[in-house]
Amino acid sequence: MRSTMMNVPLTTAAILRHGERVHATARVRTLQADGTIRTGTFAEVGRRSAQLAHALRACGVDGDDRVATLMWNNQEHVEAYCAVPSMGAVLHTLNPRLTPAQLVYVAGHADDRVVIVDGTLAPLLAAILPSLDSVHTVVVTGGVDLGPLRREGVAVIGYEEFLAGHPESYEWPELGEFSAAAMCYTSGTTGNPKGVAYSHRSTYLHSMAACAADGLSVTGDDAILAIVPMFHANAWGLVYAALMAGADLVMPDRFLQAEPLVRLIAEARPTIAGAVPTIWSDVLNYLDANPGHDVSSLGLVACGGSAVPLHLMQAFEEKYGVRILQAWGMTETSPLAAIARPPATVTGEEHWSLRASQGRPVAGVELRLVDDEGNEVPHDGKSVGEIQVRGPWITGAYVGDEDAEKFDDGWLRTGDVGRIDERSFVTLTDRAKDVIKSGGEWISSVELELLLAGHPDVLEATVIGVPDERWQERPLAAIVLREGAEVSPAELRAFLEGKVASWWLPERWCFIPEVPKTSVGKFDKKMLRAQHAEGSLDVVAI
Ligand code: ADP
Repeated sequence: MRSTMMNVPLTTAAILRHGERVHATARVRTLQADGTIRTGTFAEVGRRSAQLAHALRACGVDGDDRVATLMWNNQEHVEAYCAVPSMGAVLHTLNPRLTPAQLVYVAGHADDRVVIVDGTLAPLLAAILPSLDSVHTVVVTGGVDLGPLRREGVAVIGYEEFLAGHPESYEWPELGEFSAAAMCYTSGTTGNPKGVAYSHRSTYLHSMAACAADGLSVTGDDAILAIVPMFHANAWGLVYAALMAGADLVMPDRFLQAEPLVRLIAEARPTIAGAVPTIWSDVLNYLDANPGHDVSSLGLVACGGSAVPLHLMQAFEEKYGVRILQAWGMTETSPLAAIARPPATVTGEEHWSLRASQGRPVAGVELRLVDDEGNEVPHDGKSVGEIQVRGPWITGAYVGDEDAEKFDDGWLRTGDVGRIDERSFVTLTDRAKDVIKSGGEWISSVELELLLAGHPDVLEATVIGVPDERWQERPLAAIVLREGAEVSPAELRAFLEGKVASWWLPERWCFIPEVPKTSVGKFDKKMLRAQHAEGSLDVVAI
């Protein structure tokens, strides 16, 4: 029997229409350089998105042309999120923290035609523009001098001038829901960046999952502080979720240091926020060192991108009443795949052990665990394997790349290794590329790092596998100490004793001023391994 339901495509235009009509008075609030907050409404975002779409059409954007953004989190970026996919073009969010060579690579690979750039990032774009052969138009926000961007064959124009005079409504086309809406490249932690193209449908469904009570529970009473950059995996879906639910968006622009963030929280009083653990760890250190700031408006903080240390969650909850929920996902999964919400019946230590896990899959996402031989292994909380995932907002391929190795019979191979328990809580032990294999057994670098990060003298800790004659590989712990702290490797090793199997205890240690980070703020273990291989780490053996 055929269903009798209407076939109304799930598109970003539908999200935008809903946001601007139903939640016309909800706000986008952007932090500015002078510390004040600029405020626009969803109705205004709707009108300006229409103008942006007309302007893009007028400058030649057609079909599924790619329109790139090189922008921080601000209202103009929200307008691009709305206008570009809704007009049928494809939004390509460029990560300004990539190296110039990587930016040239991804912009060329995506065939970007237009770049919308924040004035503050214009020098970065100017330096690579001669190599961006496909780009015919550059639109610059912030009223900066356009001179350095001028070159033959490229039209350069200020954002406000670009929009001016265009109609404030747009007949958004009826698009197929499986057509591409936006694209994002993986940050290349473990290789060359690969492109993922989100569809309108995947974006819509993912936004609903983000809004759901068991997701990030977004309502019209919320204000969402989106610290996670809009160039990093869709800003975790927070922008479209806000438009759906009518939540205010609070945008920190480029001011991502603890001090301006804490001031922004105190003033704008967001109820939900999203950022990677390093940001929350900076915020915690700042709050501890500068008492008297009010962050109590935050009811739910979504945190992920790398493992969230238990002590970070506990400290926020006990000292500041802020609940951090760990979520797990990747660029390829839109990114929300799992969230660590323990059942209410689970209390005490078990509650915290589930909070420290990567969580259970949200509805729409299925997980399985596969061992080295390709066999599925049970979800018993003990068996370890690679996590594979599938669902309507999980990528089934990479753009222009037949990397069959990343897929297995309709499932995405995440490259994440871990366990799944009977209740479907996932615990990641490592990325496949970071796994330490010592004497044929696995040592979890993540578990060692999380434990070490809990030592009061340790600011950051990371653990990599290094070659060992006898055991093939052994862990090397690279430690960043807190200012003024003094602690010896032997003391740190003693701190780990009893918490992990004795053969996991590292005998190689080094103290470093800072852990190298990737463009999205994760520990760059590839770099650290290279530093070790070239002998530039001062390793102490105990
Ligand atoms: P990249 O793959 O370039 O690092 P992504 O942001 O897509 O960029 O990273 C996804 C990866 O980040 C996941 O495969 C996983 O290894 C890691 N990750 C994400 N969330 C968590 C988490 N909560 N705990 C541990 N690792 C995480």
